[in-house]
Amino acid sequence: MLFKDMNLHPSLLRCIADRGYTETTPVQDKTLAETLDGRDVAVQSQTGTGKTAAFLITLYENMLRGATQKWRSALIIVPTRELAVQIEGEARLLARHLKFRIGCFYGGVGYEQQEAQLRQGTEILIGTPGRLLDLSEKGLLKLKEVGYLVIDEADRMFDMGFLPDIKRLLQKMTAPRVRQSMLFSATLSRMSRKIALEYMHDPVFIELTPENLTVDTITQELYRVKSHIKPNLLLGILAKEKPANALIFVNMRHTAFKLAKKLELNGFSCRYLSGDLPQVKRLRIMEDFMEGKFPFLVATDVAARGLHIDDLEMVVNYDLPQDHENYVHRIGRTARAGKSGKAISFADEKFGEHLYPIEAFLKGRIPEKTATMDMYATDRSLEYEAQHKHDRSPDSPQRGGGYGGSQRGGGGGGADRNRGGRDRSGGAPRPKSPQGSGHGSGHGSGSSRGR
Ligand code: ADP
Ligand code: MG
Repeated sequence: MLFKDMNLHPSLLRCIADRGYTETTPVQDKTLAETLDGRDVAVQSQTGTGKTAAFLITLYENMLRGATQKWRSALIIVPTRELAVQIEGEARLLARHLKFRIGCFYGGVGYEQQEAQLRQGTEILIGTPGRLLDLSEKGLLKLKEVGYLVIDEADRMFDMGFLPDIKRLLQKMTAPRVRQSMLFSATLSRMSRKIALEYMHDPVFIELTPENLTVDTITQELYRVKSHIKPNLLLGILAKEKPANALIFVNMRHTAFKLAKKLELNGFSCRYLSGDLPQVKRLRIMEDFMEGKFPFLVATDVAARGLHIDDLEMVVNYDLPQDHENYVHRIGRTARAGKSGKAISFADEKFGEHLYPIEAFLKGRIPEKTATMDMYATDRSLEYEAQHKHDRSPDSPQRGGGYGGSQRGGGGGGADRNRGGRDRSGGAPRPKSPQGSGHGSGHGSGSSRGR
């Protein structure tokens, strides 16, 4: 449907046209048909299909229509800080001619600015659970005034890492029938449905192509490979296929660091992203990658959800994800908004066992390919490491997602201890710390970490 044929507020129509959107995507069509009437929805639609604009347009239109009353705020809860920032960007673009005040609230950075923003008044609030709870406990975020609630990446928000915080947030809000609630994800787990029924008011379940969770413009390939030669296969594939860019997923923070360093030493300009990096750096790395300032990024699951990277050609599951749903989300970083892309996965002796639940979830097999000898490339970083073997602490992550040259710095220790090194940051789990602490502007330290 054409946006201009919809009965939307003229200012909002101008914003949508300026953003370059003329026609609704299928998920926008189906969602708006319910939400503009005020219904609650739980929406499942493939990655890259335009779910963000579906909820933003709903919020703006419904809030504009209610403008004669006192505006009630809208709260958008997301799992990672990077996604919060990205949604804030889209929210601002789509509100160019509207008077909404938009704010972004996430952990790892100081409180002052966010608190000041809340004091001034904010109608559209986007944030990660831990920080939102903190701000609500300080009395600055008025959850009772939330008239519209969006939970993006809903199934991730309802897994064990986030659920306690989400429930606390929901319990502080008004009853479901006096607000409009919306859930979105590319995968809606049974848990999401249960919570939807519990915390929403008579929700409509909208499911687009639930039988096909992944976009068919993603070419998927699976290689069975022993873990010690995975670097060689990856180097060979990058050399042969020459993708302009690639996002490479690993399961552990230390693998992210090590693999990025390896790629860099082999001549592939690369950085890494994991939850233990200082927040300001995390955001800068993501931003630089999105702007094409460097072509290869090795990341943990902090980058699996929701992020829209224009023209990302390849996703590599260097490690198969432990969480089967994350396979869908990880590969969904490519082939967005109708484009095509490639997703290559390695099944090794360590993470290969995750393949069965992934394929059961996909209800299909990932096409398997055999890696012939000529596909493996020599790992030149080994020479470098042999030459520098007398350097101190060669594998200590340097703060900042970079390496290049000598590996001093030694910081970042202990990061991998958390849950066996699996990176679940982006807001959860919240460290238990006394409320009210964490004032000040320390980045990524103390009790504000992970919030
Ligand atoms: P999802 O949340 O479903 O994974 P996003 O909301 O991130 O997807 O949108 C994916 C891409 O599609 C973004 O680049 C967005 O700007 C673009 N997009 C969204 N809606 C439209 C539309 N109606 N017309 C054209 N492009 C759109
Ligand atoms: Mg999204």
